[in-house]
Amino acid sequence: MKKIFILIFTFSINLSYSKEIQVNLLELYKELHANPELSYQEYETSKKLASLLESIGYQVTRNVGGNGVVALLENGDGNTVMFRADMDGLPVEEKTGASYASKNRVKNLEGEEVFTMHACGHDVHMTVLIGVAEYLYKNKDTWQGKLLLVLEPAEEVSGGARNMIKDGLFTKFPRPDFNLAFHVSASLQAGKVGYLPGWAMANVDSVDITVKGLGGHGAYPHTTKDPIVIAANIVTQLQTIVSRQIAPTDPAVVTVGSIHGGTKHNVIPNEVKLQLTLRSYTDEVRNQTLSSIERIVRGSAISAGLTEEYFPVIEIKDEYTPAVFNNPSLVEEVQRSFVNTLGDDKVIQVSPVMGGEDFGMFGRVEPIIPTALFWLGAVNNEVYEKAKRDDLTLPSLHSDLFLPDADPAINTGVEAMSNAIVDLFANKI
Ligand SMILES: [Zn+2]
Ligand SMILES: [Zn+2]
Repeated sequence: MKKIFILIFTFSINLSYSKEIQVNLLELYKELHANPELSYQEYETSKKLASLLESIGYQVTRNVGGNGVVALLENGDGNTVMFRADMDGLPVEEKTGASYASKNRVKNLEGEEVFTMHACGHDVHMTVLIGVAEYLYKNKDTWQGKLLLVLEPAEEVSGGARNMIKDGLFTKFPRPDFNLAFHVSASLQAGKVGYLPGWAMANVDSVDITVKGLGGHGAYPHTTKDPIVIAANIVTQLQTIVSRQIAPTDPAVVTVGSIHGGTKHNVIPNEVKLQLTLRSYTDEVRNQTLSSIERIVRGSAISAGLTEEYFPVIEIKDEYTPAVFNNPSLVEEVQRSFVNTLGDDKVIQVSPVMGGEDFGMFGRVEPIIPTALFWLGAVNNEVYEKAKRDDLTLPSLHSDLFLPDADPAINTGVEAMSNAIVDLFANKI
């Protein structure tokens, strides 16, 4: 063990790539940033990166679970390590003012024309993956193992991971011993990385509720069953799930993000539509939340005097994202490697969030593969200090103002992840 550690440490110190590669990576980043594609439509992005990985020397398989790409480098005996980056952008109009800002407009799957932006930093993830690919290929005489680089489509709509697994990611290719990923952080400075053992990101469910009623004249409410009042009652009652029904020690969120019904002041409509997002960590809390919703919705209809045929319809959307559970032993190993590479002050323990990431899906396939997602600092140092000084809020992920400090973030990501992967090739956790 000690011997391996020293070997790795020497490698870590020596790891620095040439200026030329840095410049290429930044150019690649800017090109990806300027040309974001929406979920399920990452055709050009996936084509470009597949060719790039092939030209570096990887064995590349295209169209894995849609636009997914798998690049494999088999390099002797050792663990198989998977490193994932996601490829899709968001329907957001970029307002960062960057010279390489996206001006792209495309048709979404519903046929509407929308702006697109890499507002979740997936362009950084892809660039880091290419940097890692290039570095580990060039230095393949310093390690032994199998490297599985995965470019995932449709992460934002929770389809990519599921589709890639269904299409044989863990059966057609060497099965990973470890799954790793980075996600940029909108609150951590560029040059730093974040780690967290255990629950890191939440289960995400989307639920549609159609509240039915009997419409009529606004001046004769007694002749109607007003779905607006029933919906208002449901919205209020839903607030008691987290505050009164789930244990205070178990994190959960129930948010009604959309409520629509009615057309005019004096017309009581026939229905109101609600859209909810639910968050939790454990399956128990997830199931408890879903059954509470069912009970509350049904109870509200009964108390309004509606008969069964008019009970609200609940639809749990199938774009479920499972929570990300970071394998504690894997986090410990990688965190140690990050410290060796970047120094103690650059490796920060972060708090869990209730955001979702369908990377969690890769850690749920039996037999379970140790899986961990790490945060890659992306906030410009000056912006960070100014925000702290003036008590300003930094743009969050998905904001039209979110602009990573790409150069230091990418270099840190490539350096830290390349070393961590090399460490894991030889590691027996
Ligand atoms: Zn996102
Ligand atoms: Zn993301």
